[in-house]
Amino acid sequence: MKPFDYVRPATIAEAVTAAAQPGATYLAAGTNLLDLMKGGVSRPDRLVDVTHLKGLDRIEHLADGSVRIGALVRNADLAHDTAFAKAYPAIAEALLSGASAQLRNAATVGGNLLQRTRCAYFYDPASRCNRREAGSGCDARAGGNRLHAVLGWSEGCIATHPSDFCVPLVALDAIVEIEGKSGRRELPLDALHRLPDTTPERETALEPGDLIVAVRLPATARDFAGHARYLKVRERTSYAFAVVSAAAALRIESGKISEARLALGGVAAKPWRTRAAEAVLKGAAPEPSAFREAAQAALADAKPSGDNAFKIELARRIVVCALTLAAAGTPARIPALPASPFASGALHA
Ligand SMILES: Cc1cc2nc3c(=O)[nH]c(=O)nc-3n(C[C@H](O)[C@H](O)[C@H](O)COP(=O)(O)OP(=O)(O)OC[C@H]3O[C@@H](n4cnc5c(N)ncnc54)[C@H](O)[C@@H]3O)c2cc1C
Ligand code: SF4
Repeated sequence: MKPFDYVRPATIAEAVTAAAQPGATYLAAGTNLLDLMKGGVSRPDRLVDVTHLKGLDRIEHLADGSVRIGALVRNADLAHDTAFAKAYPAIAEALLSGASAQLRNAATVGGNLLQRTRCAYFYDPASRCNRREAGSGCDARAGGNRLHAVLGWSEGCIATHPSDFCVPLVALDAIVEIEGKSGRRELPLDALHRLPDTTPERETALEPGDLIVAVRLPATARDFAGHARYLKVRERTSYAFAVVSAAAALRIESGKISEARLALGGVAAKPWRTRAAEAVLKGAAPEPSAFREAAQAALADAKPSGDNAFKIELARRIVVCALTLAAAGTPARIPALPASPFASGALHA
């Protein structure tokens, strides 16, 4: 590992100043960053350890019905907060489907949002990778890419964003609070992660020194609590990233869907909100024909990037399955390890 400075600022302002220096990066629990450093993939000059900053480890249920989640809240603590899980069951389900219990006990909210792609070529310093080294090329394009993107990719990069947590967050209009050199600002989560286009090395809308301090969910996000699910398909039951996942949240009134939220994971360089599918669902009866039409709309722009054409049909089926489960109602108890969607038969609808 390359030598680096380590600083532990006492305040948010000190942290921002320390991290705005070239070559500096924030360290939270380190479950992603330290692996990348050990492998020589990430080579920061300075680590700015934020884990001792005060006030960032709280879940605040605010009087206006919104919830504010500090960037240092642990993934496990959020998933197991009873009031949170009741109001936002699909988010708790997504958190519980990620990583392992040990990792969830350590990993933070801010770190989960900003974890790097799991593209194997990105992790291998001997490979060409435009994200790791701008302009060097992309070995995934002609290589093993069955797990890569089917939406929003470019010739420069076909990687996916690996977070489960971000998928229901983006569906429910989450806002990210950021402290930067010019003070505090807010950004819709949908605008945090960038599609690769011609600059895959720029993964987010953040500037040097920007610290995520919290994620907020608006009061309206609670309206979906009765009909919300997160469904993740992976290559083994635990300890694996999503091949494809979907967060579905519905409001059902008088036998019709009055509002729908739908986002996909594992398909693009960002959590993929699909407003075209939401428009199809709005006003429809919660029935298989509407779910199939929504799935077609969600994947209408999808194209395979090599070996991964199967993901397009898989994603369509996951959408139908997630909507079917959401329409049936949120279960009283969120499964810690979601059951295989193949068992329900809905994938074969
Ligand atoms: C074996 C394994 C399996 C996993 N499986 C899954 C999975 O199935 N689903 C899933 O979603 N995740 C999975 N993960 C990823 C895991 O969730 C992330 O490693 C974790 O969320 C990162 O959080 P952290 O606090 O450790 O961040 P760190 O590793 O400390 O940081 C990650 C990145 O975020 C930046 N950062 C951290 N906090 C802030 C902040 N507040 N503001 C600005 N920048 C910040 C850091 O600079 C760094 O670039 C897995 C990880 C492992 C090792
Ligand atoms: S897909 Fe993206 S992350 Fe993977 S090798 Fe290509 S440029 Fe790098």
